[in-house]
Amino acid sequence: MATLNEALETIEDGSFRHIVNISGGKDSAALAIYLAQEYPQLPAEYVFCDTGVELPETYEYLDRLEAILGQEIVRLNALDLLGMKKKPGRNPFDIWLNEYYGGYLPNPGARWCTRVLKIKPFEDYIGEDRAFSYIGIRGDEDREGYLGKDQKPPKISDKNNIVPVYPFKDDELGIADIKSVLEANGVGLPDYYEWRSRSGCYFCFYQQLGEWQGLQENHPELFEKAKKYEKIESGKHFTWNQDRSLGQIENLEERYQVKNPDEIDSCAICHL
Ligand code: SF4
Repeated sequence: MATLNEALETIEDGSFRHIVNISGGKDSAALAIYLAQEYPQLPAEYVFCDTGVELPETYEYLDRLEAILGQEIVRLNALDLLGMKKKPGRNPFDIWLNEYYGGYLPNPGARWCTRVLKIKPFEDYIGEDRAFSYIGIRGDEDREGYLGKDQKPPKISDKNNIVPVYPFKDDELGIADIKSVLEANGVGLPDYYEWRSRSGCYFCFYQQLGEWQGLQENHPELFEKAKKYEKIESGKHFTWNQDRSLGQIENLEERYQVKNPDEIDSCAICHL
């Protein structure tokens, strides 16, 4: 781990690259804008690891952000790791699911999706270069879900050449500051925050019941696609939600509220 000041001190000698990983969520978006405006000397590279199964709102948000930053957000795609060309209808999640994981859906205990779709493309992009990885953990965050096994803030990669930096922690910026950065720059929050608390794949298994209901209401075609991944095999249920299938969720009479994301389990890499 390095402090923001330590990272800034390396700019002159060019010994490190400076990578800002954008998840499609508010915190990493605010971080990108904050760094660009407060530290314009930083030669930041913005990257987004595209699972190919993100929400349409996420792609729109990235476009909005790119316009404010005046710089490309490089879209990394796990298809590149496989040497496969991108084409309509082909997404890296499906390739990994069917060809490498035997059709077994990821879940909180077997989160292969984060490793192959988010972490690996990021590491591949950096290679063996020395790089600072700027992470949008806020100054007011110390929730358990955002601490790693060693009780330290999360990082995207364990590789020694990739050093995490937490500028919001160093500069003590909390949720109110982050919202005001986004509002002052006309970016606001991603539109999916009206019904979902976090960025990530449309079928992310971390979704709360109310978020699945929100997906069904806002993107019924994606809800139907998510349903098609679920199956029963040898009496075992392979479902996104560990307690109910999407068929059961769509028949729930009660409309569930979406809880504050700070209170629920989540993926620190996908959901910043
Ligand atoms: S958003 Fe969810 S489903 Fe997508 S890669 Fe991250 S943990 Fe996996």
